[in-house]
Amino acid sequence: MKYIWGIIAASMLMVACGTTKKSESEEQKAVSITFSADSAYNYCAAQCQYGPRTMNSEAHEKCGEWIAQQFEKYGCEVELQKADLKGYDGTILKSTNIIARSPKSDKPRIMICAHWDSRPWADNDPDEANWKKPVMAANDGASGVAVMLELARLLQQNDSANVAVDFICFDAEDWGTPQWEDDSDASSWALGAQYWAKEYVSSLNTSPSTYQYGILLDMVGGQSATFYREYYSMKYAQSIVEKVWQAASIAGYGSYFPNKDNGGITDDHLPVNEVANIPCIDIISHYPDCQQSNFGPTWHTVSDDMEHIDKNTLQAVGQTLIQLIFG
Ligand SMILES: [Zn+2]
Repeated sequence: MKYIWGIIAASMLMVACGTTKKSESEEQKAVSITFSADSAYNYCAAQCQYGPRTMNSEAHEKCGEWIAQQFEKYGCEVELQKADLKGYDGTILKSTNIIARSPKSDKPRIMICAHWDSRPWADNDPDEANWKKPVMAANDGASGVAVMLELARLLQQNDSANVAVDFICFDAEDWGTPQWEDDSDASSWALGAQYWAKEYVSSLNTSPSTYQYGILLDMVGGQSATFYREYYSMKYAQSIVEKVWQAASIAGYGSYFPNKDNGGITDDHLPVNEVANIPCIDIISHYPDCQQSNFGPTWHTVSDDMEHIDKNTLQAVGQTLIQLIFG
């Protein structure tokens, strides 16, 4: 990722308006289905065992096959949406969005998504010698896919969900312009999601079914992570933000999801909102006091590895989504 727009100041004004009243639905009970953080952790480790999944690498190719196989194992129909996309530097990126659709159902359909590629450069590492090394992307990539795989496993086992869920693993999110370049272009990020959104819009002529809403997971396994309400999520999908934050509270993970606002982040949810017109929120960790980056101490560094993955964070996000889907 990512590029925070200079609107933190504006959004801070909104902090004071955090909801304090208890709504009726807060009387809702926590669901009894348990998200397994151990399982999600193992899915995360399995991806990292391939090495950094940077675009055009063998690790990327092999891991993509593995992810597709897992979703198939859990009863999803998988489409590999391949495209040659052009990076900011002109590199042709062999991109594959992995689209895993759950079986036909009369239930309303939602999409949950995350990117699965690794950033090729650790350009936010405190040591300049590491800037051109690839990022393992245990958190910034693998964690989101890991949570989705565990949800897919639980959805196959339990048919009491109130929605049908499609999972989309976006590729080529993290080839965005490195910090050492003079020019930064917001459109150099989220290339796979940009492509998906365009294809989605053209497919509406033939299959007009759409998603009620989307949820993007990005960096959902970091240590001491908290999740603030991201600016574009509030702009385009405020009711979904409220629904998810409330689910977190019911599930007992409200402390991970404070009623606080974050600035705007360029991420895969932008083309989903702005091109595909599907209201989509971004669950992305925010570290208000981290000097290294507000995305956390390991973001785009060589330390974004399994040693810095926290099962408690995976649990908080995963159980919140279980509450949303089954509550
Ligand atoms: Zn990233």
